[in-house]
Amino acid sequence: MMLLQRREFLAAGSAALLSGCATVGRQADGCTPLPRVNVDPSRVIRTVAGLRPYRASGFVVRREALGDKALVHNYGHGGSGITFSWGTSRLAVDLGLQGHRGPVAVIGAGVMGLTTARLVQQAGFPVTIYTAAMPPDTTSNIAGGQIMPSGLFRRAAVTPQWRAQYDAALDFSIRRFQLLLGEKYGVRWLPTYIESDGEPQPPHLMRARWAYRELALREHPFALPQVARYQTMYVETGRFLQQLTADVLADGGTIRLRRFATPADLAALSESLVINCTGLGSRELFGDAELIPVRGQLAMLAPQPEVRYAVTGEHGYMFPRADGILLGGTFERNVWDTTPEPAAIAGILQSHRRFFSGFRCTA
Ligand SMILES: Cc1cc2nc3c(=O)[nH]c(=O)nc-3n(C[C@H](O)[C@H](O)[C@H](O)COP(=O)(O)OP(=O)(O)OC[C@H]3O[C@@H](n4cnc5c(N)ncnc54)[C@H](O)[C@@H]3O)c2cc1C
Repeated sequence: MMLLQRREFLAAGSAALLSGCATVGRQADGCTPLPRVNVDPSRVIRTVAGLRPYRASGFVVRREALGDKALVHNYGHGGSGITFSWGTSRLAVDLGLQGHRGPVAVIGAGVMGLTTARLVQQAGFPVTIYTAAMPPDTTSNIAGGQIMPSGLFRRAAVTPQWRAQYDAALDFSIRRFQLLLGEKYGVRWLPTYIESDGEPQPPHLMRARWAYRELALREHPFALPQVARYQTMYVETGRFLQQLTADVLADGGTIRLRRFATPADLAALSESLVINCTGLGSRELFGDAELIPVRGQLAMLAPQPEVRYAVTGEHGYMFPRADGILLGGTFERNVWDTTPEPAAIAGILQSHRRFFSGFRCTA
């Protein structure tokens, strides 16, 4: 029934638009305009597919022995690796540095490896990153960059101890990202509109949704029955990872290109503390069969600087960034291919085109 009502509502919005009733360029009675994203296929500047490193029982931050070394894991963040990066890296570094002396090895140069390396340096220890690939050739470069827990655990599979790690990591991350606001690291706050069902939001999401409020129909232009708005931060991932890499090097860190095939390869490193930040690579390297890819495909449109809001709903999600307008919305479990599929990209474009052409009024 709800679905039917929603469809009828959308159809009514489109009909109003087609019959010329939609208002353009001014605030209409009963509708607050926003700039519309121009979803013309000729504006697509790139398409990508990335693999979210998902575990039903959540990310792994744990210390264990590797021969005579300490090994600390920091991987498996699903669709929320940017969000949790500073936080779980902080937990991993705290676990590793207890009683440690001397240089530290970090494996991986995605967002986890780079934030871990920075925190190791800031604690006063020399660091070497060993990695199979560098930015921009990491999953982290593909992320949309919304600071929001999403798609990183199954409620029934996590423990209270993990929940405590989740809370501590999210709090630390959010505080750290606030210190990096601005162009240098590509971090900014944006209002985010979300298709809502009017139900109270789960507390674990509200930790990253500020000023959350259900909106009246007159407060937005979307042809949706129920919309809420909140504030959160967005990270332009390419710029952020490039700056972190520069920071690691500027502080005397070393980066070596190297792929590890087995834990024994890690045991042969000279550092007595190894922090594993290999993301989906941990499945093969450490035999973690719970870790699976959840593929996401994205279409990036040419930038539209006047669009200064994000929106998520059944049609997918739109995050505006300085490097382009990012459109996404696929979640494909156990798919390993990182080649974007034209049919999926066409679907993303079509659903967003329908969504934005359904605006009841536009700026
Ligand atoms: C489409 C899409 C949208 C997303 N949107 C968001 C979002 O809006 N917000 C958010 O918070 N998150 C988002 N994510 C999730 C986020 O991208 C991931 O959780 C995050 O990138 C994981 O970071 P990582 O450093 O663990 O892994 P990676 O970025 O994959 O880095 C792993 C590193 O380890 C190296 N490595 C792997 N195996 C080995 C090995 N055997 N030897 C040596 N090195 C190795 C790799 O070369 C790489 O450098 C999104 C992901 C996708 C795909």
